[in-house]
Parts: sequence; C-alpha cells; structure tokens
Amino acid sequence: MSLSNGRTYLAIPGPSVMPDSVLRAMQRPAPNIYEGEIVGVAETITRDLKRAARTEHDVALYICNGHGTWEAALANTVQPGETVLVPATGRFAHGWAEIARGQGIEVQIIEFGKSTPFDPAAVEAALRADTAGKIKAVLATHVDTSGGILNDIPALRAAIDATGHDALLMADCVASMVCDRFEMDAWGVDVAISASQKGFMTPPGLGFVFFGPKAAAARGRIANVQRYWDWVPRANPQMFYQYWGGTAPTHHVFALRAALDLINDEGIEAIWARHDRLARAIWAAIKAWGQGGSLRFNMPDTAFRSRAVTALSMQSPDAARLRAWLEQKAGVTLGIGLGMADPGSPEADGFFRIGHMGHLNAHMVMGVLGTIQAAFEALEVPHGPGGLDAAARVIAAA
Ligand SMILES: *Cc1c(COP(=O)(O)O)cnc(C)c1O
Repeated sequence: MSLSNGRTYLAIPGPSVMPDSVLRAMQRPAPNIYEGEIVGVAETITRDLKRAARTEHDVALYICNGHGTWEAALANTVQPGETVLVPATGRFAHGWAEIARGQGIEVQIIEFGKSTPFDPAAVEAALRADTAGKIKAVLATHVDTSGGILNDIPALRAAIDATGHDALLMADCVASMVCDRFEMDAWGVDVAISASQKGFMTPPGLGFVFFGPKAAAARGRIANVQRYWDWVPRANPQMFYQYWGGTAPTHHVFALRAALDLINDEGIEAIWARHDRLARAIWAAIKAWGQGGSLRFNMPDTAFRSRAVTALSMQSPDAARLRAWLEQKAGVTLGIGLGMADPGSPEADGFFRIGHMGHLNAHMVMGVLGTIQAAFEALEVPHGPGGLDAAARVIAAA
C-alpha cells in the first residue's frame, strides 16, 4: 500500500520547493519584451539580488544554470594561460576547475577530500609560493553541496590578505546564498556566483554573477571577453536588451520577482535564522538515530556543516533502499549521494542527502523526519531512539 498521494516533498539540494506565489507568477501570457512591465521589473530584481548577496556593487544576470556562472565569472577576469587556485572540498570545486580548464586556464588544486573543510593556511602557503604572480583568482566553494560542507570564507579572505597577493577571491554561493549567512562586501569577496533554483526558490535557468570593484578592474585587463559572457552590459538594467543578451527569460523574471518579494518580506537575517534552526532540528534527529546504527554525517563538525543541505551515509540496508521507500510510500524524495563514490557503483548506494533550502518550514522538516522514522521501522533499519523527540525539542525552543 502506498501513502504517497497528496502534496509531495522534493527534499533534494536543488531544484528546491517552489512557493505557490512563484508558480502563479509564471501563469500568464507572454509579455512584450521591448517595453512595459518587464523592463521595470528588471531594475527591481537587480536591486533585490544585491540585497540578498549583501553587496552594494554589481550583479550580472545570465540565462544559465550554475555551470554558466562559473564560466561567466572566469571569462571576465582570467585569461587563457593564467592560473586559478582551487581549494577543493568536493564535487563542485572540481566542477568549477573543469570549467576553468575548458577555458584554457591553468588550474592549481589543493585537495582536501570529501569530508574536510578547506584550510586557509594551505591557500596562504600556495599564494606565498607564487612569487611570479601567476595566480589570478582563488575559486572557493562556500557550500560544497556534494558533502554538505560549509567553508569559512572570512578566514580565507584573511589568509589571502596576510600574503599581500592580489589574486581575486571568488565564491561559489549557488547552494548557500539565502540559506547560510553570506556577506559579500563585509567579507571582502570580489566575485560571488549564485543561481535561481536553490535558496532563491525559482526554476533553474537564471544565473547571477556579483562583482566588486577589484573584479571590475580585472575585467579591463581582458583583451577578448566572449560577448555572451561579458558582464558589463548585463549589470545595467537600463540597457534592457543587452542586459539579457537578447530575449529576456520572461517567466523566470516574473517568478524571481515573486521569490524576491518573499525574501524581502521575511528579511535575510530571519531567513538565515530559520535555516539554522531547521537544519539543527534535522541534525538532532540524525545524531540520535546514529547512536544505534550506521547512519553517519559526512561532516561531523557542525561549525562546517551547511544549513542548506546535509550529506549522510547509511549501509545495510543502504541509503538507496531508504530513498526508494520514502519516494514510493511516503511522497518524499531525498537527494542521491554525489561525488562520494563512482556513480552506479554499489558504494554509491550508501550515500544520500537531505535538501533543506529555501521554501521550508517546521512541518516540512518534521514530516521528512517522521517519514524517515517510518522507513526505519518498515525496513528494519537499526537506529538509536529519540530522533523525533530531539528534533521537536529544537523546534520548540525556537
Ligand atoms: C547546484 C550547484 C552548482 C551548479 O548548479 P547547476 O545549476 O547544476 O549548474 C554549482 N555549485 C554549487 C555549490 C551547487 O550547489
């Protein structure tokens, strides 16, 4: 018997749950793209995206996913033959490195594995060793979604500053923005990238590249910025047609407008606090369950754990069986493990992730945890007692 009919919950780390107001905003005929409402909306989007990233500087919008923003950020700042430094803490850091290589950029990787945050001191040492100044940017993943790892960007900034090296600091905030605290200007980040489908609660397809004055100056050095990726026209909503590099992604624009209204109404500090509290409820349950079975956090230290996604492992029965039960019987879809083992290998079945980003509240979290408890009973998964009680206490204390 299945109990999955009703409103399902896609608890994967992006795309995230879309609010009803975001869905409704797209339910309309195509607008004129040359004049009228859509032109004015673009300006308000630029303003509100900058608020969400905590920056006074610029943002360029692209019709692309997160991978496109990786390419865009580099196309404006680093030339073929120059070097970027990548402290790698999982699949997404390597993804950005691959994009850089594709652009003819030399990549220097500092490997931290899959379950360790990066060590700013190692970045400091690599920059000090670069006496010729070949390194033009440090590509940091704020939250590496594969392992649920939250890296310390202010500590990285301090390490770069200690060397006096003038490499740009770039941060991948696709998973973290609007979920984990991120303050672009206060933290001294030169370029931050994000995309629409995670904390921004909008369908995949819009990419955001935020850039400060030092990155804008670096753009001036580049002999040939590929036209589509050039951030100069895209940061200026007055140049409406160039701003989108062609036809505006009309319905995404309306959807994003509705999502930004929700973000403005709640306030970014309150949103971060909500993510923190709900993440802690999930962690409390998992900690209790883990006392008597194989369920484990990929990142044991909460100081380096993302508030947007939690990466876990579970063996015999493995996580793949848990995920299948939840989807078929309970209407909950958990994320697969990513980058932890070769895709398709038996080991890969032992990893999974819970997405808890964006449009998420206490009853959704208790629902996901309650159905995981039911799956434990159904599949006879050994686990410690008291997981739901522990989660309820964290929520009650809010
Ligand atoms: C989701 C994600 C991306 C890539 O986004 P796509 O839209 O799938 O290209 C990049 N970096 C991080 C950290 C992500 O979580």
